[in-house]
Amino acid sequence: MSVLVCDIDNTIADTSAELVRRYGPPADPSDYAAYAPEGVDWTTTEHLELFRRARPIPGAVEAIHRLQRHGWYVLYVSNRPKTAYDVTEDWLLAHDLHEGRMLGKVLGGHKTRVLRRALAGRIWTAFGPMDVEAVAYVDDKPVRVVPEGVQVLPHKRPWRPDGLTWPEIVEVLLS
Ligand SMILES: [Mg+2]
Repeated sequence: MSVLVCDIDNTIADTSAELVRRYGPPADPSDYAAYAPEGVDWTTTEHLELFRRARPIPGAVEAIHRLQRHGWYVLYVSNRPKTAYDVTEDWLLAHDLHEGRMLGKVLGGHKTRVLRRALAGRIWTAFGPMDVEAVAYVDDKPVRVVPEGVQVLPHKRPWRPDGLTWPEIVEVLLS
């Protein structure tokens, strides 16, 4: 089985659009809204609502469905706080992305650990542990330390102009 480790914010969910709506345009557009403005508490009801309202990135849902039809298992990872677990799971369900598995709070460096575990097949699906043939990782801000053997696909965003759109990601992974 092939595993796609997939970031959520600004990779499948347009969280930055919600931040623009809430806080206005950023001073430096190239940097925008990969991060919330200084001091934002993502555990408040108001900010959990931003997660709930975020629209899917155009093409992301279709791309993930296509990859799943071709045998890719999707593992969602996020730096969202644990308090956002329910709203995130509901969001994935609402957008028909429930076949994957979401990991809750991941602290600095934790995505690297998830990638290592995925490579080693040490992640659990509804069917038990897996034989992993390939691991790809899509993120608008990929972690710096990526284990050897993982194919990194940066997701195209204003702060990542060299990244790939979802149709391009599908093309790379199915070629
Ligand atoms: Mg992100």
